[in-house]
Amino acid sequence: GLDAAERLARWLGAPLDEQVVHAVDEVSLSVAAGEVLGLVGESGCGKSTLGRVLAGIMPASAGEVRWQGEPITSLSGDAHKAMRLAIQMIFQDPMSTLNPRMRVLDLIGEAPRVHGLVSAAQTRDYVASLMQRVGLDPSYIDRYPHQFSGGQRQRIGIARALAVHPRLLICDESVAALDVSIQAQILNLFMELKQSEALTYIFISHDLGVIKHMCDRVLVMYLGRVVETASTETLFARPLHPYTQALLREQPSLQLRAQDFTPIQGEIPSPLNPPAGCHFHPRCPYAEARCRSERPQLREADSGHHIACHFDISVYTPAAPTALNPA
Ligand code: SF4
Ligand code: MG
Repeated sequence: GLDAAERLARWLGAPLDEQVVHAVDEVSLSVAAGEVLGLVGESGCGKSTLGRVLAGIMPASAGEVRWQGEPITSLSGDAHKAMRLAIQMIFQDPMSTLNPRMRVLDLIGEAPRVHGLVSAAQTRDYVASLMQRVGLDPSYIDRYPHQFSGGQRQRIGIARALAVHPRLLICDESVAALDVSIQAQILNLFMELKQSEALTYIFISHDLGVIKHMCDRVLVMYLGRVVETASTETLFARPLHPYTQALLREQPSLQLRAQDFTPIQGEIPSPLNPPAGCHFHPRCPYAEARCRSERPQLREADSGHHIACHFDISVYTPAAPTALNPA
């Protein structure tokens, strides 16, 4: 089935008359060369949609995406092609993007051959070298996707992205479907490739452990809005937004988890009809009347640390009782 963000993505691609949905509402972000930026939030928060818009796969209904300073909608011809190759996405399930009837040779080799990055005669050697680079045995070059494990298929997907010399990889839940030990291997591969290929990453994940491990900076999203952004170190040590604080408590693998764990209250409201004012107010233990009507703007609460909340709620400490987690 489609998740909410994907349904929204379709709608955004072809907005309906009565209901134009903004899956991603006034998000502003930039990623610097060589940086690893994390987008985190629950399913349906719009982070996948944002990833697709950034990759140029999906048009933005408003606003613009700039690539190396140029709005991507103004790029045409060779410049547009170069941008589409320079930004590659790695999805959760490589099976859904790997044609089962194609051999690895063609899965990885087709795009660079079509785009003239490698000649037909060189393609086999080129693919074999890419397989080696991502930790696949090049003697498997004539095999089909179903002959590989999930982790190996993700390596095929990564090799396919690398084949066109990307500058930016957008990884959308790229390790979410893998066993934990395989996850670690793939994450390590991403970090190795960051160095060897001088890559920049946007990591989209609901898994704060992955985000903490991989990212330099994090954007926390809730129902299509950025609610907090900070360096990874700061965000995990001193989260300032009540939603981020609650998210951190829900991650049992992280040390920040409080002893008496309380899940975030309430269901995620429909992104099609988000609550007025602060979208988080129905689930927020600090909500006041103002929160139900007035939208909090993203503001700098501390140097390089932005939150969208009317109040300064810095009561968060991992072990201390709070309103979310009463003694
Ligand atoms: Fe909670 Fe109000 Fe802050 Fe929203 S603005 S996070 S409802 S305190
Ligand atoms: Mg998603």
